[in-house]
Formats: sequence, structure tokens, C-alpha cells
Amino acid sequence: MSDCIFCKIAAGEIPAKKIYEDDLVVAFHDIRPVAPVHFLVIPKLHIPSMAELQPEHAEVMGRVMTVAAQVARETGCANGYRMIINTGKVGRQEVYHLHVHVVGGPEVLPAMVKY
Ligand code: AMP
Ligand code: ZN
Repeated sequence: MSDCIFCKIAAGEIPAKKIYEDDLVVAFHDIRPVAPVHFLVIPKLHIPSMAELQPEHAEVMGRVMTVAAQVARETGCANGYRMIINTGKVGRQEVYHLHVHVVGGPEVLPAMVKY
């Protein structure tokens, strides 16, 4: 996707504070962190959201999850963290390239969702 900001980060075409990269995924710091630790893990493959996820994406999504856990261990989330995948309009997704937020730090996080 030529106009997708996360595809451009994956390709190295725009800068990001990358923490980890391999053949399938990239992890980088969120530009507007909401907690002391806030990074994103994305597949290099352009998948718009969880709504488009298919069985053939199992390998890359497995990598997304294991890399998220590894980077969380390495960035000060010893006592836990929250992983969030905002999806579609109801989920208030802003960037339509599937990404996992990992949010944490030393303090206990606020309640998950408030209505
Ligand atoms: P959402 O799609 O609602 O899950 O959120 C998208 C997230 O991407 C937000 O937390 C933004 O701060 C973050 N974001 C947007 N552009 C960039 C960028 N260029 N580098 C890092 N994070 C970004
Ligand atoms: Zn993309």
C-alpha cells in the first residue's frame, strides 16, 4: 500500500524509533505514548485490520505476538502490560495497517474500558 504510513515505516521510507525488526515484523515506539512503555508491533505485510485476518496470516501473527512478548520483557514490563488491537470504527482504529499496542510500565494501568 503506497500511501500507508506503517508500510512506509516497515520499508524504512519514513523514520521511526525501531526497537526490533526481522523478516516478518517490526516493533517501534508509538509517536504519542500513553504510558511509560508504549510500542507497536506490526506485520510487514499490509493487513488493514483484524477484520481482514485470514488463516494464512497465522505465521506472521504468531510472530507479532512472540515479538511483542520479547520486546515487553526487554523494555521494563516485568510486572505486566496490556496488549491492544483497535479494530475498525467501533474500536477507534486510526491507522489501517494492523498493529498491536503494548502498553505498560511500573504503574498499574487504568481500567480497561469505560463507558
Ligand atoms: P490506532 O490505529 O487507533 O490503534 O492507533 C494508531 C497509533 O499509531 C496511535 O497510537 C499513534 O500515536 C500511532 N502512530 C501514528 N503515526 C505514527 C508514527 N509515524 N510513528 C509511530 N507511531 C505512530
Ligand atoms: Zn500498510
